[in-house]
Amino acid sequence: MNKPFVKIIRNGPGEKIHRAKTIILNPWHIIENGYVKVENNIISQVSKEKIKGTKILDHGSGVLMPGLFNAHIHLELCAFKNKISFNYGFRKWVAELLKQRDVTEKKKLKRYAENGLNNVIKSGTLFIGEISTLGITKNIVKNSDVFGIWFQEFLGTINQKTNLIYNLRKKLHFSLAGHGPHTCSPLMLQKLKQYTKSQSIPFSIHLAESNDETEFITTKKGKWAEFLKQRKIDFLKWDIPEKSPVKYLNKLGILDNKTLAVHLLNTDLNDLEIIAKKDTKPVLCPRSNFNLHKKLPDISRMLKLGLKPALGTDSLASTDTLSIFDEMKFILENFPDIDPLLIFSMATINGAKAFNMEKFAGTIEPGKTGDFIYIPLETNNLKNIFEKVVTYE
Ligand SMILES: [Zn+2]
Repeated sequence: MNKPFVKIIRNGPGEKIHRAKTIILNPWHIIENGYVKVENNIISQVSKEKIKGTKILDHGSGVLMPGLFNAHIHLELCAFKNKISFNYGFRKWVAELLKQRDVTEKKKLKRYAENGLNNVIKSGTLFIGEISTLGITKNIVKNSDVFGIWFQEFLGTINQKTNLIYNLRKKLHFSLAGHGPHTCSPLMLQKLKQYTKSQSIPFSIHLAESNDETEFITTKKGKWAEFLKQRKIDFLKWDIPEKSPVKYLNKLGILDNKTLAVHLLNTDLNDLEIIAKKDTKPVLCPRSNFNLHKKLPDISRMLKLGLKPALGTDSLASTDTLSIFDEMKFILENFPDIDPLLIFSMATINGAKAFNMEKFAGTIEPGKTGDFIYIPLETNNLKNIFEKVVTYE
């Protein structure tokens, strides 16, 4: 019999006690041969000593750890896996994606999204940030077991009277996203941010991802300008050129500690200092970046500046899998100098902080959710435990 890659542990009502050889409570605290007691799906106790109570569920000689966060995913694009070539540049990739999406039946998109979400959960991700432009994944995410935020994404232009939130349910796990500084009018971005700020919920935006975006924001001209004209998005009144996409969003008042800045690929030191000063939360999708742009974000510099990036996979149109384990492994392969402990933090506690969910998730500690995961990874040496977890397959 094949061992499952990841065992998903959900507790539900009642009392349960879990045991494992290694328990990663958080990146800085690991216990061996420990116990976790969960009551009504909330952790009530963690201990190195045996906890008395109901029957103990002994998971074995592997690792019990927090569920992973995928802070940036587009489930509604799951149908386009291996359908769009990366070889003709970003703009052509976007154009082809939109073309194919527009002619694909919603039913098919939903079926693939559902299947995609099942695979996400199976790979140990229990918290997601789904970005949805068409709105078709709302019920899929709502009716699933994952926690997180479902973002309705907007792009284009609006006028002063447009009401963006007419049918939005005011629940913690529903929020808004702007597609990017190069696809949304400044007024739209400000209105979206204003709403999420008033609700104290995270706002998500793709930022500093492509050369096309940088060229457009810094010159108001170029190939992206032509692309917008073709799509009938009128940018004449937009408050650009500006020195960089990050500086532009800063000028518009979009950057604060509840903004998730996704990608940050085209940034200089000054841009990253602004991100750090505003306590904006970076969300990195390096595998997608490499496929679409043949480059990687400057993660080492971000860490030096004290930034605490979270991780996302982006969509199956730009990466092979929706697994955060694969994302962690890719980072370590490409940034061998980064401490694997920090990569593990990106996939767990940093995601929880970015989602404003750290009181509820991100670590295995009393008061937090009883949903966590177990991997059958055996180790006799805690010294390199994070390297083993991060490269686990
Ligand atoms: Zn994206």
